[in-house]
Formats: sequence, C-alpha cells, structure tokens
Amino acid sequence: MENNTITYLVQEVIPEAEDVVTLRLRPLQNVIPPYKAGQFITVFFPETGHKEGKSYSLSSSPNESGMSITVRGVGTFSNKLIAKKIGDTINGSLPYGYFYSESEANAMILVAGGIGIVPLMSMIKCSRKVFPRRKIILLFSNKTPKHIIFRNELNELSRQSDGNLVVEYYLTQEMPKMEEKKGRIPVSDIFRCYEDFTDSELFICGSIEFVRDYWRGLKGAGVPVEKIYTEAFF
Ligand SMILES: Cc1cc2nc3c(=O)[nH]c(=O)nc-3n(C[C@H](O)[C@H](O)[C@H](O)COP(=O)(O)OP(=O)(O)OC[C@H]3O[C@@H](n4cnc5c(N)ncnc54)[C@H](O)[C@@H]3O)c2cc1C
Repeated sequence: MENNTITYLVQEVIPEAEDVVTLRLRPLQNVIPPYKAGQFITVFFPETGHKEGKSYSLSSSPNESGMSITVRGVGTFSNKLIAKKIGDTINGSLPYGYFYSESEANAMILVAGGIGIVPLMSMIKCSRKVFPRRKIILLFSNKTPKHIIFRNELNELSRQSDGNLVVEYYLTQEMPKMEEKKGRIPVSDIFRCYEDFTDSELFICGSIEFVRDYWRGLKGAGVPVEKIYTEAFF
C-alpha cells in the first residue's frame, strides 16, 4: 500500500445497471482532493495479496460537491467494491492520470466500450457545466440495452445541450429496439465525426482490445495520433 493512501468514506451507493454501482466517496479528512475529469484513483485491498491495488476512474465531475467511482463487478476487487455499504471505508490513492482534455473549447469525440464510459461521463458532465457550447459526440458501445450505464443521465444532458452533446448507442449482441444502432462502432462513423470537427480531441476508453483496435483504425484512417487519447481498463 502506498504512503499517500487516504481513507474514503462511502456516503452513498447508487445502483446503475446489473452488477454496476456508483459509490459516492468523501475523504475522512473531509476535503475533496483536486482532480481533472478523466482521472482515476487506485484502491487497495491488501488482504487480497495484490499490493499495487487496482485503478477506478472517477465518474464525478470536479465541479460537483462530492466524488464518485462507478464499478462493474467482475472479480475480486470490483466485487469487494460493489458490496460496500454506506459508512464503510476504502483505502485509496489521490486522483491521478493523464487521460484528460488539454483544451477548453475544441470538440471532443468520445468512444466508449461498456464500463469505459466512466471517465468519459466525468468529462461530459464537466464540459457541460464549464464550457456548455463545447461540441461533444459520444459513440457508446454495449452488448445489450441492460448493459448501458448512465443512459437516462446522458439522454437528459443531451436534451438540454442545444445539440452540443450528441450520443449514439451501439449494441453488439442484441437487435436494437430504440435509438441504438446494430453492431460494433464502425471506425468510419468515428472518422466522419472527426472530418466534421478536425480540431477535435478523440478519447477512447474500454478494454485493451477495444482501445487498441480503435486506436489502430483511426491512425490508419489518417487521424494524427497526438489527437487520440486512450485509457485501457485491464
Ligand atoms: C486506468 C484504469 C481505470 C479503470 N477504471 C475502472 C472503472 O472506472 N470501473 C471499473 O469497473 N473498472 C475500472 N478499471 C478496471 C479495474 O481496475 C479492474 O481491473 C477490474 O475491476 C477487474 O478487477 P477485479 O479484481 O475485480 O477482477 P479480477 O479478479 O482480476 O478478474 C478479472 C477477470 O477475470 C475473471 N475471473 C476472475 N476470477 C476468475 C476465475 N476464478 N475463473 C475464471 N475467470 C475469473 C473475471 O470474470 C474478470 O473478467 C480500470 C482500470 C484501469 C487500468
């Protein structure tokens, strides 16, 4: 466990989807540490023998009063986290990481696979508050509708955005019934957004394979690599 570990108190537990929970956290010292939308904390469960801990992105926006992580229960750490109750504590690091926007006004093209939406949600909420005219396009891939996290919140933010936040859903394992599209996100769909906003930054977050495939695809299509930011969840 690291020396700069602090203790977070679980203040609220919000179910988001099957096996996905948002934990609202507050440091026991009561001061929310500064962070950028897109950063993460490392959580420690030394009893698992996994000394380095595991990373969890912040789903909250830095301009909210609290901070939160959103976790999909898949294994040892994540299931321990989603089992937390109000009043429990978690040892974790201060927020850090380099997956954040360097610009205030340029368009953002966000590509999320499943739980990879978490840091992108933080960026969306932050931008909508601080730079509401910033153009954001989110392409969000999920297996089925029940896997889609934050759908209501995203749709509401989009509805209030005067067209500045566009959200496209893709389903890989079920036929679309509502506003979704069928299949994986085609690289050509992302590239079309880029052609519309060539000053944009692109952010890709999801599994290692998801991030690798889209990074390669976009690079191959001609997007300059310095415009592509990636965060792989592993
Ligand atoms: C920068 C970063 C940010 C991240 N942000 C988030 C986030 O915001 N939210 C989030 O949910 N995750 C996030 N992750 C992923 C997170 O760090 C963990 O990797 C994830 O929660 C899995 O860890 P675990 O200990 O729960 O799973 P593990 O126990 O390591 O299991 C991993 C996989 O192995 C499978 N598995 C485990 N045990 C067995 C077994 N006995 N037999 C067969 N299969 C098994 C599980 O089904 C699972 O698919 C992030 C990762 C990084 C690097």
